[in-house]
Amino acid sequence: MTKTDSNLWQSSCEEVVSALPLDGDLKVDLAIVGGGFTGCSAALEAASSGAKACLMEAHEIGHGGSGRNVGLVNAGLWLPPESIAEILGAAEGSRLTGHLANAPKRVFDLIRRHGIACEAVNKGTLHCAHSEVGFEDIADRFRQQAALGAPVKLLDAAETQQRTGSPVFHGALFDGRAGTINPLSYCRGLARAAEAAGARLCANTPAIGISRTGDGWKVATPGGAVTARALLLATNAYHEPVEGISTPQTVPVHYFQVATVPLKGGHSDCILPGGEGCWDTALVMSSFRRDAAGRLALGAVGNLGGVGGSVHRGWAQRMIRWLFPALGDVGIEHAWCGRIAMTGDHLPKILAIGPNAYACFGYSGRGIGPGTTFGTLTAQALLKDDPSLLPLSPGEHHGESFSGLRSAYIETGAVLTHAVKVRG
Ligand SMILES: Cc1cc2nc3c(=O)[nH]c(=O)nc-3n(C[C@H](O)[C@H](O)[C@H](O)COP(=O)(O)OP(=O)(O)OC[C@H]3O[C@@H](n4cnc5c(N)ncnc54)[C@H](O)[C@@H]3O)c2cc1C
Repeated sequence: MTKTDSNLWQSSCEEVVSALPLDGDLKVDLAIVGGGFTGCSAALEAASSGAKACLMEAHEIGHGGSGRNVGLVNAGLWLPPESIAEILGAAEGSRLTGHLANAPKRVFDLIRRHGIACEAVNKGTLHCAHSEVGFEDIADRFRQQAALGAPVKLLDAAETQQRTGSPVFHGALFDGRAGTINPLSYCRGLARAAEAAGARLCANTPAIGISRTGDGWKVATPGGAVTARALLLATNAYHEPVEGISTPQTVPVHYFQVATVPLKGGHSDCILPGGEGCWDTALVMSSFRRDAAGRLALGAVGNLGGVGGSVHRGWAQRMIRWLFPALGDVGIEHAWCGRIAMTGDHLPKILAIGPNAYACFGYSGRGIGPGTTFGTLTAQALLKDDPSLLPLSPGEHHGESFSGLRSAYIETGAVLTHAVKVRG
C-alpha cells in the first residue's frame, strides 16, 4: 500500500491557476479569505458582475477540503428535507432545500460555461443501503425527495447489483441530478475562471489579521494588505488563526480515500458501468466511485495520519475484496485524507461577523454544491448589500461544545469498526 499523502486529484489535475502571492497593498470591493469552492466561486461571481475581488489563500488553491474530497456532486445536504425543515422551520428549510436542489445544475453549468477540465460526469449518484434498516432509510428519503419532484428512483437489490457491480447492497436511491468530478480540478478551474474574469487570486498568502478600517475591512498578510468594503471568510475546516476574527466552530471529522491502479477489462467493466458515484447508509460511512482512468476510489470515515491509520488502510483492502469479490487483488496507487467540518445539527452556517462581512462554513461533508452555492450567493448578497439573496439567514454566533472530544469519539468509533468488521 502506498504512503498516506498521495492525493489522486493532485496527480490528475489538469487545471492550472497562476495565483501569485500578494506583494503590496490592494483596494477592492470584496476581500475573500480561503481558496476552496466557497472562496473561488465567490471570486468568480464578484468578478463576473464587474466588482473588484481579491482572494487570499494560505497555501495552494484547493489545499483544504475542496482538493481532497470524494467528488460526489450531490443535490441537498446529508440531512433529508423534512429534517432540515424541522430544525430551521418550514420557510427557511424550504429556502435552503430549494437552493441546494439546484446545486448540481449550478456546478455542472459552471463547468460547461468555463470549460473546466474536471472529469465531470453528470450521470447521478447511488445512495446504497448496507442493511435492511439502511433500505428503510433510503425509502424514506425517496418519499421525501419524490414529493418535491426530484428525479429520484428507488432501486431493488438486483438493480443495485447491476449498477454497482457489487452483490452486497439491499437496494439504492438513485438521484439523476447528481454526478462526479475531480474536485481539485473543479476548484482550480473556478479559480482560473475567476482570474480570467478579473479577480486577483493570491496563493501562499495567509490572512494574519483582520480589522475594521473606515467603513470597510483590512486584511493583513505577510506581503501586504487588502482593504475592501465587504469581506467573506471561507476557511471552513482548514481555518488558520487570523488575529481579530474568531475561528469558525465545527467538529473536525477525518475522511480518507484510497485509489487503485487503473482497472480495465474483466470484472472491473461491471463496476459502475453507468458512471454513478456511490456512498452507503452505514454509521461509519463509506463511498466509492471510478475516475476517468478507471481507478476505483474507496473512502470512509477515518484518519490515515492518526494512530488508527494502519487499521483504516487494512480495512480498505478488505472492503474492496468484499464489495467486488470477482476483482481479485488489486494494487493501491494513492491514499490521502482530509478534514470535514461537521456541525452539531449537520447544517451549514452563515455568520454575520461584522458589517458587510460573512463567514460560511460547516457543510458537514456536502460542500461541492453547497460551497459553490453559498460562495456565489454570499458574494451577491455582499456586493448588492441584500441579505435576502443569501441561501440561509445569517446568525450572529455559532458554538460547538467539546468539539475535540467529539472528533476523537468519532475517530475511535471508526478505528474500532474498521478493526473488527468490513462494513460499518
Ligand atoms: C475527505 C473529504 C471528502 C469529502 N467528500 C465530499 C463529496 O464527495 N461531496 C461534497 O459535496 N463534499 C465533500 N466533502 C466536503 C467538501 O470538500 C467541503 O465542504 C468543501 O471543500 C468546503 O469548501 P470550502 O471552500 O468552504 O473550504 P476548503 O476547501 O476547506 O477551503 C478553505 C481554504 O481556506 C484556507 N485558509 C484557511 N485559513 C486561512 C487563512 N488564515 N488565510 C488564508 N487562507 C486560509 C485553507 O488553506 C483552505 O484552502 C468532503 C470533504 C472531505 C475532507
